[in-house]
Amino acid sequence: MANRQLIQQLKLQGISHPGVLRAIEKVPREKFVLPKLKQRAYENVALPIDKDQTISQPYVVALMTQALIDHPNPRKILEIGTGSGYQAAVLGTLFPEIWTIERIEVLYHKAKKLLYELGFSNVHCRLGDGVKGYVDEAPFDGILVTAATPTLPLALLEQLHPQGGRLVIPLGPTHQVQELTLIIRQEDKFEETILEQVCFVPLIPDHH
Ligand code: SAM
Repeated sequence: MANRQLIQQLKLQGISHPGVLRAIEKVPREKFVLPKLKQRAYENVALPIDKDQTISQPYVVALMTQALIDHPNPRKILEIGTGSGYQAAVLGTLFPEIWTIERIEVLYHKAKKLLYELGFSNVHCRLGDGVKGYVDEAPFDGILVTAATPTLPLALLEQLHPQGGRLVIPLGPTHQVQELTLIIRQEDKFEETILEQVCFVPLIPDHH
């Protein structure tokens, strides 16, 4: 499948924001998949990467990205789970400043190098435990968690911008189906909406 066909499929699945569709069209997913899977880069499926992790399904990347857009003026985004760097690249195409955290060192180095080579100077990679968020740069207009957790990491709620900050996170049992949940903060109130059923690899705290 070509990128153009992928875009058509995403539209049929309800991805309607032109900026999100343009960002997916622009980011060369073939650079983020394993070389032996290049032929399958524009299939609308998650694919394996190194260290038993995955590059997310384009539909889920688009949906999570679209969920951030209604914030009045998203500028600063945090992603937990850099993986291949693909979601970070899509975010970097749309928003001014991205921080992305990965706990596995080889994945961190690989994604950092690739994002640099592709010119994403607004995407900042960090090695560490994303469960703690990234307090140095908080608050964030949007936080995306691209790994599953049964419980909401409180640090992430605290690091959301108090006026309309948005957290998108797969909540539920790991290695099964989770609910992709959008949480919007207004001061001390957190409004929750379930967006989709998804299946992510687990979010693992560093002391694990
Ligand atoms: N966003 C990625 C992409 O576009 O390729 C896909 C991410 S993959 C589904 C989940 C990633 O989360 C893995 O690379 C995994 O190592 C990472 N991860 C798991 N627990 C983490 C943690 N506590 N902190 C940071 N990264 C974590």
